[in-house]
Amino acid sequence: MKKNILDLTKEELQQEVSPKFRAQQIFGWIYQKGAKAFEAMSNLPKKLRQELAERFEIAIPKILNVETSRDGSKKYLLGLRDGHTVEAVLLPMKKEEKDAEGNVVKEARYTVCVSSQVGCKVGCEFCLTAKGGFVRNLTPGEIVGQVLAIKQDNDIPANRRVNVVYMGMGEPLDNLENVAKAIKIFADEHGLSISPRRQTISTSGLAPKIEKLGKMDLGVLLAISLHAVDDELREKLMPINKAYNIESVIEAVKRFPIDQRKRVMFEYLMIKDLNDDLKSAKKLVKLLNGIKAKVNLIYFNPYPGSPFQRPDKERVKAFQKYLLDKGVLCTIRESKGLDISAACGQLKERSKEAVDGNPV
Ligand code: SF4
Repeated sequence: MKKNILDLTKEELQQEVSPKFRAQQIFGWIYQKGAKAFEAMSNLPKKLRQELAERFEIAIPKILNVETSRDGSKKYLLGLRDGHTVEAVLLPMKKEEKDAEGNVVKEARYTVCVSSQVGCKVGCEFCLTAKGGFVRNLTPGEIVGQVLAIKQDNDIPANRRVNVVYMGMGEPLDNLENVAKAIKIFADEHGLSISPRRQTISTSGLAPKIEKLGKMDLGVLLAISLHAVDDELREKLMPINKAYNIESVIEAVKRFPIDQRKRVMFEYLMIKDLNDDLKSAKKLVKLLNGIKAKVNLIYFNPYPGSPFQRPDKERVKAFQKYLLDKGVLCTIRESKGLDISAACGQLKERSKEAVDGNPV
């Protein structure tokens, strides 16, 4: 198999081509002009184009299935070169606005949620990805390629603002080396120009890796899947808590370098009668004391056979109000993608059903 050129940072590509500025041009062709073949790179000498084609492939994941939600979010099932599949989701954040003459006055904004592994080792109780076990880490190019595939599929112009969240399948900090490289490739000014400040790593709380990421000082944002405020419940929901308990995660977050203007996001999956009461809200406030935090409450979406239920709206609202009254920034995640099987792993499962001949 040829090397995937998307796996290379621009600095690495500079080692492969001469003179070095060719690497910038190649980045521009792939990431800004959407070139799918080296042959199309018309300002490159023919010989170089041939050499590149002999050695490399522009391996963008193949779109195998798309589910569009009523709110405009799209969930993609993407095929990798070895036949494995991952999911990525496009979330339109702001709609384009035009004036009376038809000029764009406000540009559309998007967030792409990417996967970092095929499967996952972490084994969260509420997650379908976990049920399939761990298969392998994604390469940097397979991570970057998810955004490329989605941008191209939606004709999103090269300069349009896109955020990246590592919240798809897998635990990004369990694949830190490749994720760190993807962050750099995304951020390259000759490529997609997605600044690290618009990239969010979402982790189940691998405390030592949070420290390691912090020391790399990449400038990315951090989101922690907390979901529970006492170790007993968190262990049930997320067995990883046995290795890294709540206190160790909070301590690691306190040491994480974060931009003055930014906050660490704490994801809190609201599950009916398990963690949606005001006692939990009170504990949460105490836990986050001293951290520039923002809490994101997420409605649990039951999947076929799931042991948990969706909480009542009133309980979620009351939980949010308690936090806000105590000065903790708190949002409720809109149920984007609710009607397209939103928990990670579900699209894959449902596609499998389709392959087996069952209706999706
Ligand atoms: S929720 Fe995320 S970390 Fe937990 S098992 Fe699923 S993919 Fe892994």
